[in-house]
Amino acid sequence: MTDALTAKRLEINGIVQGVGFRPFIYQLAIRHGLKGEVANTATGVSLTIEGPENDLRQFIDDLPARKPPLAHIVEVAEIPEAVKGYTAFSIVQSRSSASRATLISPDVMVCDDCLAEMRDPLDRRFGYAFINCTNCGPRYTIIDDVPYDRPKTSMRHFTMCGQCQAEYDDPDNRRFHAQPNACPACGPRVTLCDVSGKTVDTADPIAEAANRLKQGRIVAVKGLGGFHLAVDATHAGAVARLRQRKHREEKPLALMCSSLDRIRAIARVGIAEERLLTAIQRPIVLLERRENTPIAGSVSPRNRYFGIMLPYTPLHHLLLDAGFVALVMTSANLSEEPIAIDNAEAFHRLGQIADDFLVHDREIYLRSDDSIVRYSAGHMRSIRRSRGYVPVPVFLKENLPPVLACGAELKNTVCLTRGNQAFVSQHIGDLENRATDEFFRLTVDHLKRILDIDPQIVACDLHPDYLSTRYAKERGGSIPCIEVQHHHAHIAACMAENKADGPVIGLSFDGTGLGTDGTIWGGEVLVARYHTFTRAAHLATVPMPGSAAAIREPWRMALSHLRAAFGEDPGFRALPLFRPVDRQQIHVILAMMDKQINSPLTSSLGRLFDAVAAIIGLRGKVAFEGQAAMELEMIADDAESGHYDFSWEDHGDDPILIQNAPIIRGVVRDVNAGLSPATISARFHRTLIILFDQLCRHLRTATGIDRVALSGGVFQNHRLLTGLTTALEKSGFDLLTHRLVPANDGGLSLGQAVVAAAKVNKL
Ligand code: ZN
Ligand code: ZN
Ligand code: FE
Repeated sequence: MTDALTAKRLEINGIVQGVGFRPFIYQLAIRHGLKGEVANTATGVSLTIEGPENDLRQFIDDLPARKPPLAHIVEVAEIPEAVKGYTAFSIVQSRSSASRATLISPDVMVCDDCLAEMRDPLDRRFGYAFINCTNCGPRYTIIDDVPYDRPKTSMRHFTMCGQCQAEYDDPDNRRFHAQPNACPACGPRVTLCDVSGKTVDTADPIAEAANRLKQGRIVAVKGLGGFHLAVDATHAGAVARLRQRKHREEKPLALMCSSLDRIRAIARVGIAEERLLTAIQRPIVLLERRENTPIAGSVSPRNRYFGIMLPYTPLHHLLLDAGFVALVMTSANLSEEPIAIDNAEAFHRLGQIADDFLVHDREIYLRSDDSIVRYSAGHMRSIRRSRGYVPVPVFLKENLPPVLACGAELKNTVCLTRGNQAFVSQHIGDLENRATDEFFRLTVDHLKRILDIDPQIVACDLHPDYLSTRYAKERGGSIPCIEVQHHHAHIAACMAENKADGPVIGLSFDGTGLGTDGTIWGGEVLVARYHTFTRAAHLATVPMPGSAAAIREPWRMALSHLRAAFGEDPGFRALPLFRPVDRQQIHVILAMMDKQINSPLTSSLGRLFDAVAAIIGLRGKVAFEGQAAMELEMIADDAESGHYDFSWEDHGDDPILIQNAPIIRGVVRDVNAGLSPATISARFHRTLIILFDQLCRHLRTATGIDRVALSGGVFQNHRLLTGLTTALEKSGFDLLTHRLVPANDGGLSLGQAVVAAAKVNKL
């Protein structure tokens, strides 16, 4: 008797619910001739299998290799069981239990099978904008609670028709337990409305919306994680009107194209970019734009790149079928407010912007903006991590106590931890208005509920005035509230996503973050571990005359750096950048700095970029933080390899002081010699690359540390990241960079969480 029966129970953790996992198990068990049962549990999926030992083994070996595309298996526990003598394999009811530790799938682009049905005139879902199956469709944004079942989603308002229910109940059907399953007879519907909310009388609302887009009208389109504002990207007048109504004068607008070929016609798509564009997350990908395209110039002014995505919902496909070169698809909000998700809210908030509204009656419970990525220095880099990626956790090296980290002020995200999983929220935005603050609170509550996490530690920034810090302090109460220095958090985030231990040499470069000495940091070289850090080096400080005004008006930073470099020498004031500035105002600013009025000291590298951009005449004022620095990067001449002098002072115990003055003097010399901004920009970048490579080598000699971590918003600069990565690797460093979470403040909550947990452990 070689075929003695054995039985095993498998407890599988990971993203295994709502992704077609149980039908997959069912079919795999049938294929291997096994009997038993499978059920969803609060922690994942539990199954019992009976059969000959060999067949069981093969089944278990096949699991990871053949799993459905959206499933993510974290752990499989095997528990021996007594043979019960099952006569078949079946799928049984969900078991509820006290702990709710399952992972929820992100929202997923419509799959090819569903698209094929949608385009088949004989299919009952022909042209249906809400077609989905177990492999695709909305998830995170329609879930109210776990376990993930239809009554816990916004699909609870729709009762399935007989045909849909039959699909849902049939383990052999690809819609078995597809919670958002629907059809034109029973599911959500699209309507086109005018500004007053009145339904437009048309047989085909999507085709009519497309017509109106072609006429240059602005259409608010309800999507997966929120509304978009759409216009025809080739219609300059429409784009201009959208910018003006949205009060978004300068930031690039995202595009959506119906196919890769259409994208290739307007931008350069390499193999890596193609992989990003077609990934199931369907992010916006930054692509180098082509010259002389029909796209309106105002879509991406003064920028080498377009941000482009492929359609990801059936509705997008139907809309783009009308044959656009590209649609502008920008988050539907007034500048800096959260994206609109609710129909009534959309009419209220977007009524001044949109001409028409393409809406539907499937509610969005949680907003989630489009994610933005790019390919840089050999890897995908996340710029905004949201739809498609959230709530997949960042897996950590070690288990942490439950922490709630509240993030920074700008590009805010929050982070909750559970065991070795860190859940970084979707992009929440800049916590500068009430609407965003509410979204912040809602997201914290929602994540705590669906992840079932009761935080034992709260983490926040050092800055007492951030709304996120205030929230943490209010909420802390009896549990420890740990303040984490901004640039330490950046480096810790980079270490954590790389599962790396300290100590590291951390280059933490950004615009603004409060330092431990009360000055504003941003050009920091730290020797960091999770629980602590020392400041090994930093840029010499200069005043920021007018504080926040100095961020909006880079000419002020230019004046500050010029004064630090040249002292009272008036020669620099003849520079062209000061021509449009009133003489009197220059004197006022100089006096402010002298008297130290509203002129906090900063060591920020982001502000040095601003200053250089202003000195070479790129721009004296900006519409958004980092704009001048971004434009400085864009113009750099790829063929130029020169650089400026640099120096630092090492006084032993104190941090090394990196001097800005030699760099500023070099820039001014080149401006006066009539060199092009493109040349000067390239030389400036090159200087930083050589400087920080040499400084890291210097610190390696002093400390013995040969691991370097790069973090902070400045590393969104492709030229700097690529150059520094190459140089440091050539110098033999073990290099850590961001791939999962953004290098900017969107990744900060992850760093806060791991630092806070490490600090509490050391107490
Ligand atoms: Zn599908
Ligand atoms: Zn139906
Ligand atoms: Fe930062």
